[in-house]
Amino acid sequence: MARTDDDSWDITESVGATALGVAWARSQESTSECPLYTDPYAEVFIAEAVTRGWELPQRHMAERIRSISGYAASRTKWFDEFFIAAGAAGIEQAVILAAGLDARAWRLPWNDGSVVYEIDQPKVLAFKTETLRAHGAAPAARYVAVPVDLRRDWPQALREAGFDAGEPTAWAAEGLLPYLPADGQDLLFERIAALSAKGSRVAVEAFGAGFFDPEYLASRRERLRQLREQAGVPDDTPDVADLWFIEERTEVTDWFSAHGWEVSTIDAADLMKRYNRTTDDDTTPRTAFVEARLSGYSPDN
Ligand code: SAM
Repeated sequence: MARTDDDSWDITESVGATALGVAWARSQESTSECPLYTDPYAEVFIAEAVTRGWELPQRHMAERIRSISGYAASRTKWFDEFFIAAGAAGIEQAVILAAGLDARAWRLPWNDGSVVYEIDQPKVLAFKTETLRAHGAAPAARYVAVPVDLRRDWPQALREAGFDAGEPTAWAAEGLLPYLPADGQDLLFERIAALSAKGSRVAVEAFGAGFFDPEYLASRRERLRQLREQAGVPDDTPDVADLWFIEERTEVTDWFSAHGWEVSTIDAADLMKRYNRTTDDDTTPRTAFVEARLSGYSPDN
């Protein structure tokens, strides 16, 4: 599962399969007793992936996903609220980076006339759109797939797909930063800023304080080892974290503040408290949810 500079993947492979992991967590939340949101498409994706030979998460992975289900649900809810608030503020252009099997373009209440661009690997977006089409699902906004690797010239692909850099945009990067190296993260933000008209907003799931502490990383590894042991899974089974670039990087809040954006942030632990989704054990990831706004926009400008 080692990463290379130009690796690519289908939905059931390597980084692509992480989108199925998220969809699986969303399908579990949607059928839970008191869900924070419902995503009826998540289980459609899982069913289709299974027919294409994908195996439902092995027991240790299922345990791992379950152990962070409060986190995964809070995260989805936070991004849902971000887009709804952006729409209420009159922003009608959205770009979902590394969209995976995010079904927001189909399930959120978008303003009339809104457009949602989604960027991800070609095979991932093909799986998604084919599956939803076969299921008879219609997007709730104008939907434009932009199949391109985020390490390539995606701004050009986005413009060619019709994106208007003169209009304010709501950007989202959920479950993406770990898959980019530190310099790739900086480049991503530079490109977002260059394409953002006044009034734009960005929502990012970011590494939080202490994420790179060796002790914390060691405790995460140990927790995973325990889950594997309990499930009787060999210790050398590949794990999603093998696909991450674990390296120190610019703080997302610092980057956007330094570039003139107004930034607000909430740690994962506080977000989970907000939704009453804290867990007893110490599995809360040290991440933070960062929203940045570029002020100065009024619909009359
Ligand atoms: N944001 C989605 C969600 O929360 O449902 C998907 C998250 S999933 C953990 C990570 C996604 O990032 C995958 O869909 C993967 O294909 C995409 N991804 C990672 N690196 C990428 C790259 N270099 N170019 C395009 N997509 C990428």
